[in-house]
Amino acid sequence: MQSISFFYPQLNTPKKAVITMHQKPDGDAMGSALGLYHFLVALGHQVQVISPTNWADFLDWMPGVDKVIDFEKNREKSKKILDETDWLFCLDFNVLHRTKHLEKFLTEAKCTKILIDHHEQPQEDAFDFGISVTSKSSTCEMVYDFIVDSGHDADLNIAMAECLYTGLMTDTGSFRFPATTASVHRAIARFKDLGLVHTKVHEHLYDNFLESRLRFIGFALMNRMEVLYEYNTAIMYIQHADLHRYDIRTGDTEGLVNYLLTIQGIKFGALVIDRDEERKWSFRSKGNFDVNTFARKHFEGGGHVNASGGRSSDSLDATINKFKQVLKEYKNQLK
Ligand code: 5GP
Ligand code: MN
Repeated sequence: MQSISFFYPQLNTPKKAVITMHQKPDGDAMGSALGLYHFLVALGHQVQVISPTNWADFLDWMPGVDKVIDFEKNREKSKKILDETDWLFCLDFNVLHRTKHLEKFLTEAKCTKILIDHHEQPQEDAFDFGISVTSKSSTCEMVYDFIVDSGHDADLNIAMAECLYTGLMTDTGSFRFPATTASVHRAIARFKDLGLVHTKVHEHLYDNFLESRLRFIGFALMNRMEVLYEYNTAIMYIQHADLHRYDIRTGDTEGLVNYLLTIQGIKFGALVIDRDEERKWSFRSKGNFDVNTFARKHFEGGGHVNASGGRSSDSLDATINKFKQVLKEYKNQLK
């Protein structure tokens, strides 16, 4: 993988581009993809965003989201577009298997592949050009840098600002996590100068749920949380029936794991959800406890030092038991 700066000169010749992100895209994945989409369109390129799967309803206000293709619903069309594209941008993931069924087609694509991402341990050999900086707050911040560093600050517009602000906000926990640097605030100052109404973005993302989601959170906090004070760890487990009972949809469980870290003294929060095809883990930590390594070692996952995810094919009970067993190895680290 060559440095992304070697790619910048190519931006001046109109090309066909595909942009994709990780499955079940969150605010940063969809925000960075659409932010880049608006930028490349402004430069005169022909651009298509392809999401590997569906996404949460609370992202549906974003400018350009109506043009995004869901690969699972449009396989043939997506394959054709991938066959014909000159460029493939991969945003907010760094190993191709995070795109689920799209992986095979991304691997086989013959075009120039460009990575922009902030997760640990990128699969560098899969990309021609790229940038991977784990200290960056979000992929949205990196797309902002891409626009500015390639000499196109003057091309920034309000659509890009709204999309990029989304991921900056969601990936920093509304500007509280350690990666919230002065550069993050400078990017936002630039967006405000462009006319960004930031309250609108917050309301779209956080004040737009159904009553059933709030009832579900109350239920889960009351009945599905266990605090293991000996390990300064809290876990939450959501049964398959719970998802049905409250009609929980894609995106409704986002942020749930963060409640665990609001308990005094808790350094490690782990949420597991019994999904149809697998048990999906979300890990969060405070301080030095490295949940990227934890997820990689025990639950086929990865991510960042303080936020990661993983999976298991075991039953819900079995994966919880495994978690409790391996936790014993970390007693000293979690003191
Ligand atoms: P979340 O818990 O919000 O789904 O994910 C937390 C972080 O870990 C995100 O940055 C996400 O991209 C990453 N992540 C989640 N699941 C996985 C996984 O299965 N594998 C890897 N490598 N990263 C993951
Ligand atoms: Mn991200």
